[in-house]
Amino acid sequence: MNDLSELIRELSEMYDADSRDTYITLYINKDKNVKCLEKRERACKSLLSGEEQKNFTNTMEEIKEFLNKNAGDTLAIFASRIHNFFKTVSLPTKVNNSLIVDSSPYIRPLARIQDEWESFTLILLNSHYAKIFSVSLGSVDREKNLSSNIMNKHRKGGMSQARFQRLRKGAIHAFFSEVEGALEKIADKQIVLAGPGQAKLQFQDMLSKHLAERIVEIIDIDIDDEQQLLKESVRLISKREEQKSHDAVQQLKSEILKDGLAAYGLDDTLQAVKNGQVELLIVEKDYKLKGGLCEHCQIVRAGHVKNCPMCGRPTSEVDVIEEIIEFAERTDADIEFTDDEEISNLGHIGAILRFK
Ligand SMILES: [Zn+2]
Repeated sequence: MNDLSELIRELSEMYDADSRDTYITLYINKDKNVKCLEKRERACKSLLSGEEQKNFTNTMEEIKEFLNKNAGDTLAIFASRIHNFFKTVSLPTKVNNSLIVDSSPYIRPLARIQDEWESFTLILLNSHYAKIFSVSLGSVDREKNLSSNIMNKHRKGGMSQARFQRLRKGAIHAFFSEVEGALEKIADKQIVLAGPGQAKLQFQDMLSKHLAERIVEIIDIDIDDEQQLLKESVRLISKREEQKSHDAVQQLKSEILKDGLAAYGLDDTLQAVKNGQVELLIVEKDYKLKGGLCEHCQIVRAGHVKNCPMCGRPTSEVDVIEEIIEFAERTDADIEFTDDEEISNLGHIGAILRFK
């Protein structure tokens, strides 16, 4: 798991057990400044009272301080002073500016960006140099350099050509093993392999099966063309992602037709996700549905629900789809966002199940 999936998972598990509106979520574009927030901030503040209002004011102070220091970034911020929580993520793409005060962090836009900008591992190598990049949200998170300085120089005097070649082969093999070891530790689910000439293919041949299977693209490129390579690999991965969300809808359709491992429509999908049955959740991109949530019982109902049908406590108004996404994250389901028309005909949401 990478850092972003871990964060989304963590956010999906957080809520105020007393249903108080104590979590602030902010999505904000870099061309907007703190001023644009002020109207929304005043409105939210006036609607809160007591402890919630105090927490809101304190948390907003912290957020604005952060924004002043990080002007120019497109950001997602999740914060609550009362819960001692403050996390930010730099985003690779424009978002709808929004400030949300709720009993839990609002993760849907972030989950969608994660789906559209899938993380991957990029490895650039030749026979004596390798660089491994972890790419998350379209930019490099971490990188690791490896190099071997043996046997790339001229043949030493007195050594036969055959002996030199043997030693050189051995040295390359040893270097590739070292690179494989490093890759093993940090490789994501998807690997892009790149570099000039044959070295990358020799490296691919010697990889253990579980790593070789994760190679999704191979790019022929000069060893020092890093910027071009990053751009090209991000483009290829996002093209694959489009294909994947299309395939997911096709798979859902075929499971439904044979009455197989699928759920569709709001009620069935909600039930399945709460039972931990969901392998892959498929969500229509912009569909929202108002409903009520009881944080105490973790019960969600669509429509206008003032009080919890179980415990009678007042519910908080939520986007039911957001709640389903949070349940899915908590149970390690994958999520695909799609604008495929067929998903709207099936009730805007559906799932491939692990079991039935
Ligand atoms: Zn309840």
